[in-house]
Amino acid sequence: VMVSMAHLQEEKLRLQDELLGLREKLAARENDELSRSLKLQGQVEALKAKLLEQAQEISRLHSELGGTDAEKHRDLLAAENERLRQEMKVCEGELRELRRQQQQEPCQDCAHLQENTELQERLCQLQREAEETRTRLAELDLEVQQKTNRLAEVELRLKDSLAERAEEEERLSRRLRDSQETIASLKSQPQQIKYIIKTVEVESAKAKQALCETQSRNQYLQEQVAMQRQVLKEMEQQLQNSQKTVAQLRAQITMYEAELEQAHGQMLEEMQAMEEEKNHAIEEAFSRAQVEMKAVHENLAGVRTNLLTLQPALRTLTHDYNSLKRQVRDFPLLLQEALRNARAEIGQAIEEVHSTNRELLRKYRRELQLRKKCHNELVRLKGNIRVFGRVRPITKEDGEGPEAANAVTFDANDDAVLHLLHKGKQVSFELDKVFPPQASQEEVFQEVQALITSCIDGYNVCIFAYGQTGAGKTYTMEGTAANPGINQRALQLLFSEVRSKAADWDYAISVSAAEIYNETLRDLLGKEPHEKLEIKLCPDGSGQLYVPGLTEFPVQCVEDINKVFEHGHVNRVTECTNLNEHSSRSHALLIITVRGLDRSTGLRTTGKLNLVDLAGSERVGRSGAEGSRLREAQHINKSLSALGDVIYALRSRQGHVPFRNSKLTYLLQDSLSGDSKTLMMVQVSPAEKNTSETLCSLKFAERVRSVELGPGSRKAELGSWPSQEQLEGDTPGTPTPSGRGHASPSPGHLSGRTTSIRRKLQTSG
Ligand code: ADP
Ligand code: MG
Repeated sequence: VMVSMAHLQEEKLRLQDELLGLREKLAARENDELSRSLKLQGQVEALKAKLLEQAQEISRLHSELGGTDAEKHRDLLAAENERLRQEMKVCEGELRELRRQQQQEPCQDCAHLQENTELQERLCQLQREAEETRTRLAELDLEVQQKTNRLAEVELRLKDSLAERAEEEERLSRRLRDSQETIASLKSQPQQIKYIIKTVEVESAKAKQALCETQSRNQYLQEQVAMQRQVLKEMEQQLQNSQKTVAQLRAQITMYEAELEQAHGQMLEEMQAMEEEKNHAIEEAFSRAQVEMKAVHENLAGVRTNLLTLQPALRTLTHDYNSLKRQVRDFPLLLQEALRNARAEIGQAIEEVHSTNRELLRKYRRELQLRKKCHNELVRLKGNIRVFGRVRPITKEDGEGPEAANAVTFDANDDAVLHLLHKGKQVSFELDKVFPPQASQEEVFQEVQALITSCIDGYNVCIFAYGQTGAGKTYTMEGTAANPGINQRALQLLFSEVRSKAADWDYAISVSAAEIYNETLRDLLGKEPHEKLEIKLCPDGSGQLYVPGLTEFPVQCVEDINKVFEHGHVNRVTECTNLNEHSSRSHALLIITVRGLDRSTGLRTTGKLNLVDLAGSERVGRSGAEGSRLREAQHINKSLSALGDVIYALRSRQGHVPFRNSKLTYLLQDSLSGDSKTLMMVQVSPAEKNTSETLCSLKFAERVRSVELGPGSRKAELGSWPSQEQLEGDTPGTPTPSGRGHASPSPGHLSGRTTSIRRKLQTSG
């Protein structure tokens, strides 16, 4: 331990020395710097002095000369002066730099200082360890000393006791010898001896006991000696142990030293390696940089040449770019301008279109109104109630012979006149239009289609087919599948009209079919065809009539119409076994309702087209019919007369129109009054055998027609409608017995006014 401590101490001293050396070096350097700075300061001082001198010289020269040479010299000196001043500034800068360096210097030895402190710390630690070992050693020494002392003491005592024992033994052996001599002497003197022996023997026992005690004591002492020896041995052992520990510690110290040495060496090596590495890296970087530099130089050269070639292109590009830039700058303005112009133009155009549209719409409405007015006027001129006649051809059913001979002829120049040969006399009738047998369904329809289209405009229209059974009423209204009549054609026309107006109007067309038999109204499209329907006033107080429970079928195409007709026929057929007979005794009604909405004005219209196939007008009452046949005939007569009355009252504009006299007129009240239009198609048979019925029908037609309108003539024409019987009783060509002032059916009595109106209508289309 001592040696290691000494070693460490030495190391410490060495390090301290090193530190001292470094400090000295630093101080020396500082001194050096100081001296340098002093020198520089001196220099500065000298320069300043020189400067001063020069200044003085200048002033001297100034004062001495005052001439141009002097001035030159002065300038020179001033330049010198300036130079010196610059030099001085440089020197001062240097000085400042040095001072700054000086301030920074101490930091440069940082690595050494750190190492030093580390080593000092290590030294301290080792010193501490040595101190500990030393104290432990001292403790052990003290213990050894104590144990040695005790051992010496024990030895001394042992020696004493040994000496004592030896003395005792001496004494005892002496006594033994004495005793034996005594015994021997006593043996010679037996008596005495015996006693003596006894005594001796007694005495000898005592001695023996003492001897024993002594021996045991001796034994004890010897044991103690052994024990002490043991203790001594242990002590020695301990001492050995301590010595071993010391040796171990020493070994540790050496080990530490070795480690320290090694670490130092490693550090040095590492530093060396790092230094080498650094140098190597620097070299490498340098070479790389050189290579890169070379490459860069080469690149630069290439780029330079490129640049040279690119310059003209760049120039043109720049030029282009500038012009484009200008254009781009100007473009939004141009665009805005153009947009503004375009917008203005478009706005103007739109405005124009708008105004044109408005104008057109206004004109269109005006035209619409005008058209309606014209139409009304036309209808008014034609008469709201018009009467056409249609003569069917002679058919096989008419038979042959004189009975089937033709009794009807026509005027080649006037399509409104027809001549009937009745009982050898020719009677002429003028109607609004007469269709000869060869007139086709199309031609007939052509004449009525204006009436039908007015239904779309919201007018109510009635078309009646009147005439005796077999005169062609059903043919005209329904027609055949191959050649349909007014019903189907009317619906088709309505569909096409509605389609053509679909751009502005929304239309809905619906159909109802009904039958009036014996003054009973039945729904032909309903589920209960036998049910009696009532005609009622609308509960809304509008005065309109309606039939609760009457089925309305919406229709949109021809297929729908066919379905409706089929349905109606089926219902009619199921009602009776003989359709022809039944249909001749009942009125068949097809009611088409057209509801429209003008999308631009919101105007709503409702028009009703009533197509009525009337019951046969033949007179039966006369022939003495009875029972149901008579009742039927009476009902038919009554309803046809009522129809005549109503039409007459309407045409003559009477205040009271007797709509309620029959189911038919009551049901058609809306469609007969007001702006409504009525067409009476009077069907006649041309056969000789039917002339009297034909005559009746034509009379009915002419009378309906001859109730001519006109404020002046109206009152004069007022009168009651002739009953069916009266019609029957009338003889052709003679004035009616009732004394009514209407024109006579003969062509000669035709009023000039009526003819002129008719002509007017014909020319106006
Ligand atoms: P109504 O219904 O008045 O009793 P119909 O329409 O049944 O009479 O006609 C009787 C017959 O005369 C039918 O066979 C029908 O085809 C025929 N007929 C009627 N009018 C014409 C006509 N204009 N052209 C050809 N045939 C007709
Ligand atoms: Mg019929």
